[in-house]
Amino acid sequence: MDNATTTQAPVSTKGKKVTFRIWRQDGPDQAGRYDEFELEYRPGANVVSCLMEIQRNPVTKDGRKVPPVIWDAACLEEVCGSCAMNINGRVRMACSALIDRIVGDGEAVITLQPMSKFPVTRDLSVNRDRMFDALKRVKAWINIDGTHDLGPGPRQSAADHGVMYKLSTCITCGSCLEACPQVTIDNEFMGAAAISQARLFNMNPTGKMNAEERVRGLMGPGGIQDCGKAQNCVKVCPKEIPLTTSIAVMNREVSKQIIKDIFFNQGDEKKATGGPG
Ligand code: SF4
Repeated sequence: MDNATTTQAPVSTKGKKVTFRIWRQDGPDQAGRYDEFELEYRPGANVVSCLMEIQRNPVTKDGRKVPPVIWDAACLEEVCGSCAMNINGRVRMACSALIDRIVGDGEAVITLQPMSKFPVTRDLSVNRDRMFDALKRVKAWINIDGTHDLGPGPRQSAADHGVMYKLSTCITCGSCLEACPQVTIDNEFMGAAAISQARLFNMNPTGKMNAEERVRGLMGPGGIQDCGKAQNCVKVCPKEIPLTTSIAVMNREVSKQIIKDIFFNQGDEKKATGGPG
């Protein structure tokens, strides 16, 4: 094959600029504003590397020296989940958001905003406590009986293991809550992540011992019944976790628990009233 027909001439990016329009907010109850920063375009750059560049020289496009932008980041490889933010109106991880893919051939303006379903601590950094509180509510862990060697755990089927592995990749980034129309900044809905983690730990052979407690954690105000089935969560999850399947599975478990409770309570009432049974 003739190379001349398959190799494209490199596009010159010399002098190309990218403008970052970044939300600034000095504290949780402070008013917000935008600052604009202009950077040289660098092929392969991601949003976090651009934020680092701005941090080194926090001078706005109109020449004002301002405090460095605050954002959360730790692993820089889509594992810690802390750099989720709205990038040009779409929630995503700043570490894996490549500038080339965001701006394409269009206008090179990138707007960065903090996630809106969590309280802002400063600039792009938010408080994600509601997610961790939801994980506590559904007891998203396996209880252990001391720290001594318990020997090999119960066997798992390869099929279950495959599902559980996928569910275990949740990085608690909050993207699924941000995209969910049922989650608001001031309501209690736990969102898809905690529901999916309840499914994960209920599938675990040892975790099954506390399955009912997790199912009960999904019930009540802010629980699984607040899901409106918009299915946005599954579209934005950076780990492609099958969140809508998890919600359907746990909805069934909650329904079964409700039916069990109805019969259990009826039995109790009969005993209390001296009725048959
Ligand atoms: S389920 Fe997906 S989007 Fe939601 S917190 Fe976990 S990784 Fe993020």
